[in-house]
Amino acid sequence: MARYTGAVCRQCRREGQKLFLKGERCYSDKCAISRRAYAPGEHGQNSRRKVSEYGLQMREKQKARRYYGVLEKQFAGYYEEAARKEGVTGSILLQILESRLDNVAYRCGFASSRKEARQLVLHNHFTINGKKVNIPSYRVKAGDVIAVRDSSKDSVKVKELAEANASRPTPIWLDVDRENLKATVTKLPAREDIDFEVDEQLIVEYYSK
Ligand code: SF4
Repeated sequence: MARYTGAVCRQCRREGQKLFLKGERCYSDKCAISRRAYAPGEHGQNSRRKVSEYGLQMREKQKARRYYGVLEKQFAGYYEEAARKEGVTGSILLQILESRLDNVAYRCGFASSRKEARQLVLHNHFTINGKKVNIPSYRVKAGDVIAVRDSSKDSVKVKELAEANASRPTPIWLDVDRENLKATVTKLPAREDIDFEVDEQLIVEYYSK
């Protein structure tokens, strides 16, 4: 019997766009968004409810939180940090989220999803600048070298994941050496380097109330 995959895909359907939460399936025609591009639930197809301004802001925040797999409190902490820094708060918030190690491992193609990347990080498969790091929320900096640990390079799972995800496009701010399973952060990403369709200004407005 087919494995039930509804719960995770419902999140994408709720937000009305792909959040890439299920690995390879997200890139296939089995993706629930391709098949049922409407909100889940009884009234999903026919809902004409007018969404309030607050509702729009909240949805955008939820979308970003789900995309990066970050808990509510941690996400709010990232916003506060971004708001304290000089510059455009929304762009800084996205840069903070992108620089998390689990996201970087996913973006490098070392995992099929951020969730899977988080598991690999937790299971000690990565080093940063030669030092073992097993904290998914660890934030990389420009110049950092992220590598699969030597002892993990022979792991069938790690190899299979790297091969399966090799064709995914790599962001401009990461220089990935697929043969040696390592990557260099050439710079931290600017807003235009991040391909996530989100209106970060709505998130800023959500928290600014
Ligand atoms: Fe499901 Fe992935 Fe498609 Fe989202 S993008 S609906 S998680 S298959």
